[in-house]
Amino acid sequence: FQRGHPGFLKEKCICTFYSWSRNYRGNPGFALRPYKMSYREVKYFSFPGELLMRMLQMLVLPLLISSLITGMAALDSKASGKMGMRAVIYYMTTPSLLNMFPPNLVQACTQQFKTKYGNRTFIVSVSVTVNDTFLNSTNGTQDVVEVTREEVIPVPGQVNGVNALGLVVFSMCFGLIIGNMKEQGQLLRDFFDSLNEAIMQLVAIIMWYAPVGILFLIAGKIVEMDDLTQMGGQLGMYTITVIIGLLIHAVIILPTLYFVITRQNPFLFIAGLLQALITALGTSSSSATLPVTFKCLEENNRIDKRITRFVLPVGATINMDGTALYEALAAIFIAQVNNVEMNFGQIITISITATAASIGAAGIPQAGLVTMVIVLTSVGLPTDDITLIIAVDWFLDRLRTTTNVLGDSIGAGIVEFLSRHELRSRDVEMGNSVLEE
Ligand code: ASP
Repeated sequence: FQRGHPGFLKEKCICTFYSWSRNYRGNPGFALRPYKMSYREVKYFSFPGELLMRMLQMLVLPLLISSLITGMAALDSKASGKMGMRAVIYYMTTPSLLNMFPPNLVQACTQQFKTKYGNRTFIVSVSVTVNDTFLNSTNGTQDVVEVTREEVIPVPGQVNGVNALGLVVFSMCFGLIIGNMKEQGQLLRDFFDSLNEAIMQLVAIIMWYAPVGILFLIAGKIVEMDDLTQMGGQLGMYTITVIIGLLIHAVIILPTLYFVITRQNPFLFIAGLLQALITALGTSSSSATLPVTFKCLEENNRIDKRITRFVLPVGATINMDGTALYEALAAIFIAQVNNVEMNFGQIITISITATAASIGAAGIPQAGLVTMVIVLTSVGLPTDDITLIIAVDWFLDRLRTTTNVLGDSIGAGIVEFLSRHELRSRDVEMGNSVLEE
């Protein structure tokens, strides 16, 4: 297509995607551009960052399980029910709108992305459904035939190969049961408590390495990224719109909510979270950031462990404000590229399905890109147009992950404030000793 033709941008974006699959040779970024790093050199360069990513990921599952179980076991079922309700109300209102799913979403939506570069064809097929997300243990399947990049599209609901939502539900139930078991459950309570403590001590050690790791994670990504000048103006506008949306949410909406409810300075609260926010920016994964979020909230912001242990793992799995906002905007962008006018009903459908899709996305890099299929299908937009936004997703993913982590943390602050009476009466009941060490 010639410049100015409606198909020009689309063609250009697809070309950018094709060029992704090229060898990285001759395609380095910014300061290292003159060195023309090869694919292998890029991989070596990214090694210190990858190492941090793997170390954090190593901790996620034991941390998630032990914190949820001890968190639930430390509360009586009435108190945890109340806190749970508060957390759920917060999770449902902050990403946006309602938690109802139109019935057509329950159909499977499998989509094949066919892309051609030279005489090679790549076929990526992804299937994601809302009922998969809530009921199935393998939510989302994928096949990738012939890939020349090392990365494959993530399975959107899984963390380290495990269904995150299922694990959260199991750990919560298990924690509730052993919390109600009196003496018989003491051994298990002590076990998970000390497992949790050991993991947090490991986190403290890894934090010494985190600044170096994060530096290389980000630098490594910049070195390997494509030439951004290839991006059409419309894609640039889309990127800026997402950034502004995320900023409004992170700098205005969430702090205001925190202030209105707690009457405390939200920016002091956010300052305590800085390390977690930077880790989210570096890792693009709210699950991998979870250990750091725990540390910041408990040590800097002095949030009660009974709250963090319960609110944070659930939040990192289902509460994704940034992802919901990004998916809605991306769907509207794809509609515009296709010259489709959205009516009010369709925009509402997009908001609802974007919230549902963000719940289904696990806290792993680019999960939101895959669950976009749900949003696009709900309003009949072509799902292979996801390829249009892949070029900027590595960058937007970092920003939305940071917003996700901020949303979870502010949620923990708000739930603690609202639950202060239950926590105090529980302290009195237990002789103020349980989790205060
Ligand atoms: N990377 C995001 C997260 O971990 C999920 C997404 O892809 O939107 O929070």
